[in-house]
Amino acid sequence: MKKADIGLIGLAVMGENLVMNMESRGFTVAVYNRSTEKVDNFVNGRGKGKHIIGCKSIGELVENLERPRKIMLMIRAGEAVDHMIAQLVPVLEEGDIIIDGGNSYFKDTIRRTRELTEKGLCYIGTGVSGGEEGALHGPCLMPGGNPQAWEAVKPIFMAISAKVDGDVPCCEWIGDDGAGHFVKMVHNGIEYGDMQLICEAYQLMRDGLGMTPDEMHEVFAKWNETELDSYLMEITRDILGFRDEKGEAVVDQILDTAGQKGTGKWTSESALEEGIPLTLISEAVSARCVAARKEERMEASAAYGRKCGKIIEDKKTFVEQIRKALYAAKIISYAQGYSLMKTAAEHYGWKLNYGDIALIWRGGCIIRSVFLGKIKEAYDKNPELQNLILDPYFKEAIESSLESWRKVVAAGAINGIPLPAMSAALFWFDSYTCENLPANLLQAQRDYFGAHCYERIDSPRGQMFHTNWTGHS
Ligand code: NAP
Repeated sequence: MKKADIGLIGLAVMGENLVMNMESRGFTVAVYNRSTEKVDNFVNGRGKGKHIIGCKSIGELVENLERPRKIMLMIRAGEAVDHMIAQLVPVLEEGDIIIDGGNSYFKDTIRRTRELTEKGLCYIGTGVSGGEEGALHGPCLMPGGNPQAWEAVKPIFMAISAKVDGDVPCCEWIGDDGAGHFVKMVHNGIEYGDMQLICEAYQLMRDGLGMTPDEMHEVFAKWNETELDSYLMEITRDILGFRDEKGEAVVDQILDTAGQKGTGKWTSESALEEGIPLTLISEAVSARCVAARKEERMEASAAYGRKCGKIIEDKKTFVEQIRKALYAAKIISYAQGYSLMKTAAEHYGWKLNYGDIALIWRGGCIIRSVFLGKIKEAYDKNPELQNLILDPYFKEAIESSLESWRKVVAAGAINGIPLPAMSAALFWFDSYTCENLPANLLQAQRDYFGAHCYERIDSPRGQMFHTNWTGHS
């Protein structure tokens, strides 16, 4: 029997679907799973009659692979990956390639790339986005690791990925060691931000304007025909229009506690490490933490007798203002996310292509949107762009939305409707575009209590001064 083009370990939902996708593109896939009954179930079920080789041990898997062997792990991120690598290393040969397609922490991927390179093996850590549907029909793939492994893996990855503009694959080599997993992590952070912004727009309409799910369904359907056109807008439109067998809106039946798996938190932590303000995504992570504390919130709400006020504005006009606020805040979210990638790239020595990253995010993944095409254009025009909001297209977009954005954030504050992400974005914008921040006073305070010194406005940068604030010697 023909040997397999690639092996895949981990037959949970993502792994199975990726195997089906690969097989449908003409590749033969050998599969293995720790609990081997899943191998039988798969090969005799969905995989029956396909070019899929079921293997009951790692040795058998390795035997069945063309060289250089390519083995993709789709298993739980963390220790499980190290454990699996430890089992693979003794049975692999120089030049063989291990690919980790899970949501691994990028620093683990940096370490694993280094360790495996030292052993003569190649390692790729790849972001896989698009959930189970994406895995089956075409995910967005963000591979990084040993560049010399890419040529061997590229034909398979290009074939299985989503396509935009007809045949452009949503897959591109991202960079060395942990670059692919880093970019996937930022992608997930941006996903948190996009979702939170949509939820804030929803709460403004639901609580501030008293709109029904049907009315909001219409609004999101219209918004999806504007520059906000995206997968998340589409599913929000569909969710708001969805009714159960009793004819009731399902969204109204869902408890308001949110979960998270941690990639948003990692993005915020990385931003703090790199000294990059990532306020919108950090607020989106916090919003999920607040939402998760339902009982505590109910108690606090009762203690304060809190109710959201009604926004007394012309409904149609205010809905359009919300749309503009959402768009402007979304630009800030991507501007912050791209700043993080730029700074981390300098730190870790990655040569990231920001236009390509926007392009591959345009299809297959959860944040796919028309908007990303504009980001690609911005970075294609100026790969050294300091910040997305300085691109002429986005500057014009923010300027034409600014008044509405301020009105919406103010209405939220006045009426007690929480808008943590929309307001964080606005305050970041006001800080970033403010020539004179109050940090002169801050430096004075630091110098007062800690003799940290300060620079003066009338002296060259870097020249430090100290004042004896108390007069004590
Ligand atoms: P999962 O629930 O994250 O993991 C289950 C798989 O991991 C099973 O095959 C399981 O084997 C295996 N596994 C767990 N611990 C193991 C260990 N110590 N040694 C060997 N195998 C072990 O599965 P998933 O949802 O399909 O996700 C797979 C990876 O893709 C994860 O890293 C996930 O974060 C990432 N991802 C998921 C999505 C999504 O939408 N679900 C999207 C993008 C990326 P057994 O059957 O033996 O338990």
